[in-house]
Amino acid sequence: MASTVSTPAADVAPTTARFLRHAVEVALAAERGGNLPVAAVIALGDEIVAAAAARTLRPAAHPGRHAEVLALAAIPDPLVPRLAEMTCYCTLEPCLMCFGALVLHRIGGVVFGARDPRGGAVALLPYLAADVAAEARAVRWQGPVWPEVCDPIAARVLARYWTARYKSSS
Ligand SMILES: [Zn+2]
Repeated sequence: MASTVSTPAADVAPTTARFLRHAVEVALAAERGGNLPVAAVIALGDEIVAAAAARTLRPAAHPGRHAEVLALAAIPDPLVPRLAEMTCYCTLEPCLMCFGALVLHRIGGVVFGARDPRGGAVALLPYLAADVAAEARAVRWQGPVWPEVCDPIAARVLARYWTARYKSSS
């Protein structure tokens, strides 16, 4: 479980490894609580200022309660003006909705552990219209930085996401 989470590769900065490891632990705790194992940690300097896991399944189905959006909302009000100095560490490549939220709120950087081949939006960076691209490319995007740990977790997210969708509609 969380205590067995390994350390990201040696070429990942120690602070990045620490924040991403914390995000993985939050994601695994969410999974134990019945939600999808996706989490985001927002850091300002050496300090975590917000952390959240996806809550799309519990306490009730909700399509918008993704980890990144909940973490952005959890930043203490006095720190919000410093968003450009913050980095969001995600276990999974942000989806289009979260990509939009992170860009619109002008976060400084995003680091993600696993690529999402099905719904990840960072891969769209080269294809954005010019007016959106300038805003999106002002964010520092980095990832996937920890696939050996985050890929298996991401696989469980995708498998369960589609299963939950089809179960709820039948
Ligand atoms: Zn999302």
